[in-house]
This record gives sequence, C-alpha cells and structure tokens, in this order.
Amino acid sequence: MKIEHIGIAVKNLEESVTLWTEMLNLKARGIEEIKERGVKLAHLELEDGPSVELVTPCGENAPLEKFLEEKGEGIHHFCIEVEDIEVAVAKLQERGIHFVHDEPQKGAEGSLIAFIHPRNFNGVLIELKEVKSKT
Ligand code: ZN
Repeated sequence: MKIEHIGIAVKNLEESVTLWTEMLNLKARGIEEIKERGVKLAHLELEDGPSVELVTPCGENAPLEKFLEEKGEGIHHFCIEVEDIEVAVAKLQERGIHFVHDEPQKGAEGSLIAFIHPRNFNGVLIELKEVKSKT
C-alpha cells in the first residue's frame, strides 16, 4: 500500500502553486478543473514519495467551500493508491465502512477515486485512487 498524495485545501490555487513551487522548488503538473466534484487542483511533484495536491473549491456549492469556512486552509485528506477501486470499495463496504459517495468518482488525470467518510477513521478523510492504466 502506497500513499499517492496528500491533499491540502487552499483558498487561492494559483497563488498557492506559485508559493509552493518557488519556495520549495517543487514542480507542478498543471492545474486541472473537475467540474463534477466542484474542485480545481494541481499536483506538485516531490523527488520521492507522495505528491502534494493543492485543491480549491470551484463553482457553486462546492463541498470544499464548507471545509475552508469551518476549518480554514490546511491538510484535507490523504490518498492511498489501489489496484482496483471497485474491489477495494466493495471489500470495505462489506466490513461496514461508509463512503462519501456510493460509486467511484472521476479523479485527477483520468483516475477513479472514492472518499471514505471521515467518521470511519478517526476524523481523517481518506481517498482511494485507482490510477488509470497506461494501456
Ligand atoms: Zn486527492
């Protein structure tokens, strides 16, 4: 099991990307908007290990807006890479784990993702991600 990325909620994505890339010398993989989920995000590459995902709400009633209002900017979730998201979700659901959505959602860069409800794991929001196969 591998942590794929750590998600940080930010108010201004462009400013944050500049800050993180210039100050910490990280490379950004580009900004992507995922309308279905009301988020705009950018992945920052580290030499090794998980990437950093800067994520900001976009559009009306974006769920992340509420998070920023209540908790402010900061660590929002972390993401575990799985081989098959349907299997991973089904296995956890069988054992009584609740997900934010019943079906996997569209993630960044053509991936499929599912968020485990934070009430299951000590208030921590965990994302499962099936990375799009290269074939
Ligand atoms: Zn994420």
